[in-house]
Amino acid sequence: MPELPEAEVVACQIRAHLLGAQLNDCMVGRADIVREGLPTLPWYRGAMLEDVVRYGKSVALGFRKEREVRYIVTELGMTGLLLFHATQTKHPQHVHVRLSFTGGRESELRYWNPRRFGRMSLLNRTGLDTYRARRFGVDPLTVSREEFVCLLQAKRGRLKPLLMHQQVIAGIGNIYANEILFRTKLHPNREVNRLREARMTVLYDTMQSVLREAIACGGSSVKDFFAPDGTEGHYKNHHLVYGKEGQPCPNLCGRIIRRLQSERSSFFCPACQSNRFSV
Ligand SMILES: [Zn+2]
Repeated sequence: MPELPEAEVVACQIRAHLLGAQLNDCMVGRADIVREGLPTLPWYRGAMLEDVVRYGKSVALGFRKEREVRYIVTELGMTGLLLFHATQTKHPQHVHVRLSFTGGRESELRYWNPRRFGRMSLLNRTGLDTYRARRFGVDPLTVSREEFVCLLQAKRGRLKPLLMHQQVIAGIGNIYANEILFRTKLHPNREVNRLREARMTVLYDTMQSVLREAIACGGSSVKDFFAPDGTEGHYKNHHLVYGKEGQPCPNLCGRIIRRLQSERSSFFCPACQSNRFSV
């Protein structure tokens, strides 16, 4: 389930292997994978990969041809993978797009996604700006502490859904929301408007350190995440609460990690992340 760290790892590998390479061919196996811009597909042939940028859980490939730049944006959220040629996949029928390159360290980038409808967009600069404005809130790695605090102070509702609300903060999903909240000792259902500013800054620092550490570990391979070169991420070895229901709290408080059934599963320690007091 790629979240921000996994998408960042994907973007880094593509940058390292294919930046400056020329796109020879772009084969789209199923038209319904492309949300918008399919008629512009022929433009991309012969264009050079100039830029690779992550937005939330998506990766945008920027191509240049003469003076024009266009983008292929792929969603990784939940199930998507971008893989180099030699990387084996389970269920190869889910490879819906193949981009073949010359002049790079890899010859092909494949887009694999069992959920196919509208997961890729072909956009010009204006289209990319609209796409970003509609889908992505602030980036957790680049938002300033002050901006983050202001953002939370303007919101109401429960903390965990807010952290995972892509139009507010883009890139955090269920795994990292659980890990960040445990380390900040905040209950997933804590009301945001009951949080003091000092706690918000601790939350901010923890959010950044967890995400950066996860990127350094190559992400978390839970279920089926693989980087483009087929490597797995090792941050799952650092998970403290995600998937740890029934195990002792790693803070050694004597309690057992519980699972809260809400819209997504929340894993938390009822003692370390008490929701009873406003701190
Ligand atoms: Zn505990």
